[in-house]
Amino acid sequence: MPGAVQFDAVIVGGGFYGAAIAIYLTRQRGLKRVLLVERESALMQRASYHNQARVHNGYHYPRSFTTAYRSRINLPRFVRDWPQVVKQDFTKLYAIARRNSKVTTKQFERFCREIGAPVRPADPALLNLFEPRLIEGVFEVEEYAFDSSKLAAWAKRELEECAVELRFDTRVMAISRGPDLTSRVRLDDRHGSSEVTCRYVFNCTYSGLNQFAGDFPGTQTRLKQEITEMALMDVPPVLQELGITVMDGPFFSMMPFPARQLHTLSHVRYTPHMHWADAPALDPYSKLGSYARETRVDRMVRDVARYLPSMAQARYADSLFEVKTVLVKNEGDDGRPILFEKHAELPGCYSVLGGKIDNIYDVLERLDAEQFVAAAGISDLRSSA
Ligand SMILES: Cc1cc2nc3c(=O)[nH]c(=O)nc-3n(C[C@H](O)[C@H](O)[C@H](O)COP(=O)(O)OP(=O)(O)OC[C@H]3O[C@@H](n4cnc5c(N)ncnc54)[C@H](O)[C@@H]3O)c2cc1C
Repeated sequence: MPGAVQFDAVIVGGGFYGAAIAIYLTRQRGLKRVLLVERESALMQRASYHNQARVHNGYHYPRSFTTAYRSRINLPRFVRDWPQVVKQDFTKLYAIARRNSKVTTKQFERFCREIGAPVRPADPALLNLFEPRLIEGVFEVEEYAFDSSKLAAWAKRELEECAVELRFDTRVMAISRGPDLTSRVRLDDRHGSSEVTCRYVFNCTYSGLNQFAGDFPGTQTRLKQEITEMALMDVPPVLQELGITVMDGPFFSMMPFPARQLHTLSHVRYTPHMHWADAPALDPYSKLGSYARETRVDRMVRDVARYLPSMAQARYADSLFEVKTVLVKNEGDDGRPILFEKHAELPGCYSVLGGKIDNIYDVLERLDAEQFVAAAGISDLRSSA
């Protein structure tokens, strides 16, 4: 095994969270030697690409006030910080189903007022798109989409500028205690195994949070893994400039997906293909890798077209399959708080899961409260120990 290398921080996972945290540590916190390790061959190939690309503004969370409220705070920051990736030039509609919805039209309006989110009755011309026997009300709201390819291009540029060392096609296998408050991180790539030592480890692996050997204790927060399918659709002209979400139950969402110039279609009943309780040695990436991936687009479209008849004219282009990781405690309310754990057993080791893209600000707030010392400081720590 080659000799160990010293880093201030090793970031495991090159999704949006890993990239943003690496950039934060170098730019805001002055860490100099930062290594980012990603098992794919480029940045943001997994959940940060395979998602519905919605910049949430609260509407989606009538059952979780905190998530709704945080979305309201974070959306304007996201638009300010990543104007080049945010798509705003489309009309976003939230429709309320007459049957089986957990909210009524009145409750939805009241909830929007409570979180301070703009909401107005949709233009009558847009109402005609919906089947009135199934839809109780339709609202025009302010919610945006993001272009994940542009976000990845931003991350690449910034990481290069910050001189963060990037290792692709490399998997972190184990995290263990090293000497003098350091951690040892074992990496596997096509050449074999190697080890680096560092002061801090940031586990930003989303679905892979608990898949490490060594002294890594696992997260205390229980996680649920879901294999999900979102269909990518070429929608008819009448739906082209729209995003539509039907609330709040076994319904669907259709959003522009700017990275492919198509629309994603997700359905509460058909998007989750299977799920399991997260556990070490139940590698979600291997599970998805061996999953048959038979599309359910026909069932999605059949049901969606009952509410939105013009969807029957949409052309299926592709499916995005991904493992979605959620906190077990939010199964009932659909809330998406962050997971931020500092592992006492492994000093300097953190696990982070964002839940949704705009939650990056909640993570950065937590990091602001932490103390970090750069590599030079390690010897200081040693001499004062
Ligand atoms: C179906 C679906 C729809 C969603 N819709 C939305 C939405 O509309 N809006 C929204 O804001 N959020 C949405 N999300 C959530 C959003 O995608 C995630 O919150 C966000 O992408 C998480 O970023 P991340 O960097 O933590 O994860 P990822 O982008 O998955 O990054 C983790 C990285 O770690 C790498 N990795 C894992 N294990 C290892 C290892 N051992 N060694 C090295 N590398 C490793 C992976 O390859 C991956 O690149 C959705 C998610 C899914 C799955």
